[in-house]
Amino acid sequence: MAEKQYVCGYKHCKIHNKIPASEAVIVGNRRYHIQCAETREKLNEMRDLYIDNIDKNVAIVELVSVLNQLIFTKNVNIDYMLFAMKNVVLRKLRIKSPYTLHYIAENKQIQTLWIKENKRKSGETFAN
Ligand SMILES: [Zn+2]
Repeated sequence: MAEKQYVCGYKHCKIHNKIPASEAVIVGNRRYHIQCAETREKLNEMRDLYIDNIDKNVAIVELVSVLNQLIFTKNVNIDYMLFAMKNVVLRKLRIKSPYTLHYIAENKQIQTLWIKENKRKSGETFAN
């Protein structure tokens, strides 16, 4: 008998195939692709990071909408965005509203730090 297949429960799922039961990640009563579960998890982490460290009174709908726009519309790398937000919190940079995150995504200084961080992680050394 063929393995049971599930439709991914993630609203932003971009994977067209169904999920074989053995590969599904179950959260609550929904089943997700591994990648979708990770994306969802990272977005939740960014949302909580913002609420806990930047503005606990932020309009959550607005915050989530900006994060979704960055990741799903602008296709900003999600790991970069998480790194950038952590960096901003670490340096206590001023974030006026969730819309400021669009500038954070394009911040050259943070992008440079991100490249360095990745090189460090992959054990490469800088040429020159
Ligand atoms: Zn999915």
